[in-house]
Amino acid sequence: MKRLIILFGAPGSGKGLLGDMLVEKTGMKKVSTGDFFRSEVKQQTLLGKIVASRVKQGDLLSDFIVNPVIENAFSQILGDIILDGYPRTFSQFGFLKELVEREYTPLCVYVDTKIDDILSRISQRRVCEDCGTTHFASQGCCPKCGGRSLIREDDERILERINQYSTLTLPVLEERIKYWCRVVSVNGLNTKESVAQVLEELKNL
Ligand SMILES: [Zn+2]
Repeated sequence: MKRLIILFGAPGSGKGLLGDMLVEKTGMKKVSTGDFFRSEVKQQTLLGKIVASRVKQGDLLSDFIVNPVIENAFSQILGDIILDGYPRTFSQFGFLKELVEREYTPLCVYVDTKIDDILSRISQRRVCEDCGTTHFASQGCCPKCGGRSLIREDDERILERINQYSTLTLPVLEERIKYWCRVVSVNGLNTKESVAQVLEELKNL
C-alpha cells in the first residue's frame, strides 16, 4: 500500500509549510490545490480565469473544477502523496475515499492552530510579485529573487475564509475523516516538532 498524508487545517494554520518540510524529509510528493490554482491564475489560463472570478466572489471552488485536478495528480504520481487543501467538503471527501481506497493507507495530520495565532501569522505573510515565493514582511523583499513583497490576495479575506473553513470544512474531519483513518494533531507554530511527530506516525502506518 502507498501512503497518503492528508494535511488538514484552517487557512493560515501553517499546513503548507509543514507539507513542504515533510516533502524534504520523506521525498513524498505534495499535491496542493492552492498552489496549483494560484499558478493557473498567474499564467492566466482559461481555468485560471474561472478560478480567479470564483475566488473574487469568495466562493469555494466547485467539485467539478477541483476533483479532476486531484484525479489527474493521483494518476501522474506513482508513489506516496501529501495532500494539502483537499478535501474541503463532504462530497470531496467521498470522491477522495473512492479514489484512494485499496491503493493507499491514509493518515490525516490535523494542524490545530488557534485563530489568534493564525491572524498574527498571516499579517506577516508576503508573496513575491515575480516568483511567488512565500516569505515574511520583515524580510523586506523576496529572499529568492529580490522581487517586491505583496500581501497574498486571499489573505486579505482571511476571516471570511476561516469562517468558511469552520462551517464547511472542519465538519468533514469531525464527522467523516476521524472515523475513516488515523488522525494526528500537531501544532502549526512549531513546525520542527510537528514534522518529527508525523515522521513517527508514518513509521507505524
Ligand atoms: Zn521572488
